[in-house]
Amino acid sequence: MTAHAALELIDLRAGYGSIEVLHGVSLTVEPATVVALLGPNGAGKTTLLRTTSGTLTPMGGCLHVGGVHVNGADAASLAQAGVCRIPEGRGIFPNLTVAENLRMWTGVGGLRLPEVEERTFSRFPRLGERRGQLAGTMSGGEQQMLAMSRALLVDPAVLLLDEISMGLAPLIVADLYELVRTLAEEGIAILLVEQFAQTALAVADYAVILAQGRVTRRGTPAEVEEHLSAAYLGGAA
Ligand code: ATP
Repeated sequence: MTAHAALELIDLRAGYGSIEVLHGVSLTVEPATVVALLGPNGAGKTTLLRTTSGTLTPMGGCLHVGGVHVNGADAASLAQAGVCRIPEGRGIFPNLTVAENLRMWTGVGGLRLPEVEERTFSRFPRLGERRGQLAGTMSGGEQQMLAMSRALLVDPAVLLLDEISMGLAPLIVADLYELVRTLAEEGIAILLVEQFAQTALAVADYAVILAQGRVTRRGTPAEVEEHLSAAYLGGAA
């Protein structure tokens, strides 16, 4: 038992300008646990990830990381606190080779190039085989691996994953989600947004349905699954 949840949102409110999108969302992600955040388009899932990673400042409520109140902390400070979000658009340099991408990341977490390469290639041998290839010419799945390897350099406590299956073939998606499970077993708290609800439920320990900026259901995948179609069709479960 750890004393604190890795990530805790308490009655969190957030939005854009004067428009509130999240109207008081509470959720907890424990270490070594995968929580799937589901819900229809426009429910506020990405907004929640943006707020949790410090890209957006909460309008109200509390954001706790490892039991520490971090409201108002910017993305760099939250990264320092162990919150890592795989950037939208994968955040890699397509016109650089895999090895050059890794070189750009030296210094992240105080690591030097040999350590960056060692860590990356031991977890993703396929990237080692492609170290001289331009990142942008790799398959979508390989690019996603490269993006994830960056996040893992900092030994994150909390990993935020936004639609990592976007545009990828089913077999690759299965590989990526196997990796997600492994990362959870290593102790990382994972909050994931996934367009394919069944894929997310298959890997998650718990699931939350968000609709119109509010949590409408939460529970185990089995408990949440039966309310999915109502949530996606009507915005309320
Ligand atoms: P999807 O599944 O379609 O990605 P989502 O659940 O991730 O949806 P958000 O992207 O968080 O939903 O959007 C929630 C609401 O916030 C929507 O009404 C959207 O139009 C609005 N919104 C999102 N980004 C911005 C922005 N930069 N400026 C203003 N409004 C925004």
